[in-house]
Amino acid sequence: MSIQREMINIYIGGELFQVPEGHTIMMAFEYSGFQLKRGVGCREGYCGACATVYREKGDYKLKGGLACQTVVTDGMTIAMIPFVPAEKPVYDLNELTPDVGTFTQLFPSVFRCVSCNTCTKACPQDIQVMDYVQALIRGDIAKAADLSFDCIRCGLCALRCPAEIVQYNAGILARRLYGKYLSKNSPELEIRLKEIEEGKYDKEIDELKKMPGDKLSEKYYSREINIS
Ligand code: SF4
Ligand code: SF4
Repeated sequence: MSIQREMINIYIGGELFQVPEGHTIMMAFEYSGFQLKRGVGCREGYCGACATVYREKGDYKLKGGLACQTVVTDGMTIAMIPFVPAEKPVYDLNELTPDVGTFTQLFPSVFRCVSCNTCTKACPQDIQVMDYVQALIRGDIAKAADLSFDCIRCGLCALRCPAEIVQYNAGILARRLYGKYLSKNSPELEIRLKEIEEGKYDKEIDELKKMPGDKLSEKYYSREINIS
């Protein structure tokens, strides 16, 4: 039995389209005949490829979100942002030190932060973006790495930052520095890596590679997660 949905009006690039209510922005684009080649990835809110800005009817605020996660509303005006041009310095991690000097050198923009918190409000992952920027300014690399851990690099924070900071690229450098220089060694990880190298999981990995997509998805979402 098919469900009859009410149709609502949305504006894509200023042009009027009618789409079923309850659709995400991404589904609404495709329903309207757009073939998405850029700005689309996992469709599950993990990859950060589908940053989008929109205004809702009667609301003066320009909002941001992921097209695959944001549901359309009647009268919404939408523009997808398939790529955010961003400052991205090239560096050799082996030549860096895990301290504030590295950020002074590679991301001097970070020190322009005016603590407005716009980035945190813009983040679809509810990350405390301003707090990780402030941690970088204090040279607290471990804190910045921890706070930015769930960043999906959608770029929405950088798009709204009045100080032109590219928070997510600075955040990934913090996590790289933390991983290479500051994190404690894990004996359990060493054992697991050795097991993988010795082929202990080859059979299971082969089975996963051959599994149909729906079965793989079912297995993934029903997995046990240990958080300790
Ligand atoms: S938007 Fe930019 S200036 Fe404002 S708190 Fe975030 S990083 Fe700082
Ligand atoms: S920190 Fe910035 S780039 Fe990362 S998920 Fe949040 S808004 Fe997107």
